[in-house]
Amino acid sequence: MKTIPMPRSRFLVVKCPKCGNEQIVFNKAATRVKCLTCGETLAIPTGGKAKILGKVVETLT
Ligand SMILES: [Zn+2]
Repeated sequence: MKTIPMPRSRFLVVKCPKCGNEQIVFNKAATRVKCLTCGETLAIPTGGKAKILGKVVETLT
């Protein structure tokens, strides 16, 4: 029996590259995630796993 790798849902703590604000981002975000402080885009939805544009500081399971 084959095991199909499934992309796991996680919450990531992402640091904004612009202002340094740390924010929790869902790694499968369906909408564009913006920094709450400066409005910089932190994650872009790709249909599956979101593309994280900031620095991932921590992964919450
Ligand atoms: Zn910011």
